[in-house]
Amino acid sequence: NVALKEHDPEMFELIEREKNRQWKSLELIASENFTSRAVMDCLGSALTNKYAEGLPGARYYGGNEVVDEVERLCQSRALKAYGLNPDEWGVNVQPYSGSPANFAVYTALLKPHDRIMGLDLPSGGHLTHGFYTYSKKEGTRKSVSATSIYFESLPYRVSSETGLIDFESLEHTAALFKPAMLVCGGSAYPRDWDYAKFREIADKNGSLLMCDMAHISGLVATKEARDPFEFCDIVTTTTHKSLRGPRAGMIFFRKDARGFEPKINFAVFPSLQGGPHEHQIAGIATQLKEVMSDEFKAYIRQVKANARAIGEALVEHGYTLATGGTDNHLLLWDLRPQGITGSKIEKLCDAACITVNKNSVYGDRSAMSPGGVRIGTPALTTRGFTEADFRAVADFLHRSVQIGLRMQAAAPSKRLDDFVKLFDGDEELATLRKDV
Ligand code: PLP
Repeated sequence: NVALKEHDPEMFELIEREKNRQWKSLELIASENFTSRAVMDCLGSALTNKYAEGLPGARYYGGNEVVDEVERLCQSRALKAYGLNPDEWGVNVQPYSGSPANFAVYTALLKPHDRIMGLDLPSGGHLTHGFYTYSKKEGTRKSVSATSIYFESLPYRVSSETGLIDFESLEHTAALFKPAMLVCGGSAYPRDWDYAKFREIADKNGSLLMCDMAHISGLVATKEARDPFEFCDIVTTTTHKSLRGPRAGMIFFRKDARGFEPKINFAVFPSLQGGPHEHQIAGIATQLKEVMSDEFKAYIRQVKANARAIGEALVEHGYTLATGGTDNHLLLWDLRPQGITGSKIEKLCDAACITVNKNSVYGDRSAMSPGGVRIGTPALTTRGFTEADFRAVADFLHRSVQIGLRMQAAAPSKRLDDFVKLFDGDEELATLRKDV
């Protein structure tokens, strides 16, 4: 029973360094958050030792009396947190993470090569919604995610003028393609979702409608975003983004004559996964207890207020936001008018201890060198940041762009490596880092 520090100082030191990095930098990655001590306690608990293949009450191993209670508690809190009637909705809390949750739904409800439509990755969708690349030169299509390898995927996109989902084009394409499944939800979409419209398109084409609410699941639980459960057949989520739980996934399914429940449970285990990670499941459960509190509702309201505040401050500095703003916890900062790439600003911010990620903005010519940066507020809001703090963060971001433009003008090599070499010894950058 030796502590990590004594048992493996090398690993202990690495974890300390990462902890330090997380706390010293300004964490603006929209999909990240800081979990509570209670969640961490679950993750580092005895539950990690237990095999529990199967479902509560029907396991393939002995010794699951306690674990059954853990998982049942998680299931009932999950339904309660989203205001779902257990006669109408069920949930599987075993997916190891968001990607396995999505693939389990496809495995359960589609046949190999069935058709699927999700938001394209460069439009703000997720890989698991069916991403492929297209080489104009060779006239070939390369499937990237397993969704596009095992199913026929035809993504829909956002309008290149407004950045909003192009429903006219989606409607037209869906009528021709007749997808077996339509997927809504995304990873970099700053606006709320018109689930009623998706339902209408799904119904016209005989498609199942799935929502992947991973990014906004904290907003949905607190009714600070529209409710996908009203219109969708299946709802999946990660639990570690705005929900602030451990790294894991959940699948919610309608309980009706279509019989989703046994199919989804069978796809998760035994088709795709083995023993569930009950320590993660305990972490989800304990986080869901928090999600139902007034404090969490106030937290999510602050997340949204902070996103609006940093967005407005960036616009005051003269910048452009995709779709003109945000309804949720993230914004897409379009840097193309400034003439500097998202990749360069990501590197520069890293050097200044600000963590962001480069992101495609609609109309981008190159997915390899995207024109924007995605900014999210859940993590820093957990650390207590309010609107005034986020306005200060916008000032730091503005300074980083000014530094980047100066460096770019001094050494106009297009290579990112050459750009990064300019950071060493730059006084203004060193001052920014200190101020951050
Ligand atoms: N779905 C969406 C919308 C996401 O944004 C992500 C991850 O960012 C996932 C699914 C995949 O989750 P994971 O990384 O946990 O597999």
